[in-house]
Amino acid sequence: MKILVLNCGSSSIKYQFFSLESNSLIAKGIVEKIGMKGSFLKHEKEDGQKVLFEGEILDHKIGIEYILGVLSSAKHGCIKNLEEISAVGHRVVHGGELFTESKLVDDEVIQALEKYTELAPLHNPPNLKGIYGLGALIPSIPQVAVFDTAFHTTMPQHAYMYAIPYALYKKYGIRRYGFHGTSHRFVAARACEILGTKCKGLKIITCHLGNGASVCAIKDGISVDTSMGFTPVEGLIMGSRSGDIDMGAVTYIMDKEKIGTKSASVLFNKHSGMLGISGLSSDMREIREAATKGDERCQLALKMFDYRIKKYIGAYAAAMGGIDVLIFTGGIGENSDTTRTGVCKGLEFLGIELDETVNTGLRSQECTISKAGAKVKVMVVPTNEELMIAIDTQKIIEAHKN
Ligand code: AMP
Repeated sequence: MKILVLNCGSSSIKYQFFSLESNSLIAKGIVEKIGMKGSFLKHEKEDGQKVLFEGEILDHKIGIEYILGVLSSAKHGCIKNLEEISAVGHRVVHGGELFTESKLVDDEVIQALEKYTELAPLHNPPNLKGIYGLGALIPSIPQVAVFDTAFHTTMPQHAYMYAIPYALYKKYGIRRYGFHGTSHRFVAARACEILGTKCKGLKIITCHLGNGASVCAIKDGISVDTSMGFTPVEGLIMGSRSGDIDMGAVTYIMDKEKIGTKSASVLFNKHSGMLGISGLSSDMREIREAATKGDERCQLALKMFDYRIKKYIGAYAAAMGGIDVLIFTGGIGENSDTTRTGVCKGLEFLGIELDETVNTGLRSQECTISKAGAKVKVMVVPTNEELMIAIDTQKIIEAHKN
């Protein structure tokens, strides 16, 4: 079965095309600058061959037309005709409280997603544009929505509620939803596969550390708590997002700087986090390099980054009554040995002990990095959200066939 996975952003569409007989990636690419000058599609085939198409890509539908065109083109493509695509899986950011798992897209799903644009005004509208665009181009193709929030719908109420008037939860759905669910689910399941064990009976903490970052507590294979909240700004310190902050400080800054909600949102989402503290960059590699050369604010940003993750690990070990497996993933988690060391240092009391000879220099590779015999297995598991979306899509299509 061949599955196309689409991740539609406001001005971009990332895509990956899988053949699931062998779980292999046949092609991938990105459409960028949709609706702007200089829009283009960058396409890469299995063998690494790359091709660039420039054009007037005015909207998401045209972007998808470009993608379908290149996939089926005689020169650069990998299929003879579009009928070879069995289904399309969409990454959808917000599925609210309704979607506890991935779903075949129908009118009901679309209606619900329209409703949830209120909760994710930046993300759900482009996700929907992808669904509408594809539906208009190939109406017969089944589409599946895979939600970032779905994995976290198992959190108990005492973990997802905020201590605000209960009426506001009922009226507006103000609660912790959590994000990165597809990634947390994928790496936890993959770690269990590698360890040759079932997730049932295990207490796992997954750290997805990328430009956006979150931690998840997974007990018996289900999410019981996660650090992102009503929006992806809560929790860890991220590239340009503040993570946890006293809301009293937020209102104080808004008063003093005389800014409204829109500017405050930009301040805490785009100008804070590692960028805000370092004053240099949101990119971990650049911060690390400057810190090594003696930049004190970069050194501080790194310490704060590690410290926040360490606190969450401690909190989630307490929430679950222990920890058996600690997983690092995402661009930073997979690649930065120094971050992994900084986070784990001091957690020996929980049974977390790194084998530095294994950890040092390890990049983007599945590996257990804890000492042999340590109580907690610490692992690096590269995430693959797109493959997870493709697998979910296949399962749902097959279930509907039967
Ligand atoms: P992601 O959002 O998952 O793509 O991750 C992006 C982050 O990963 C950026 O902050 C990068 O600097 C960081 N990253 C990528 N490669 C490395 C590396 N080799 N060492 C440290 N950080 C890295």
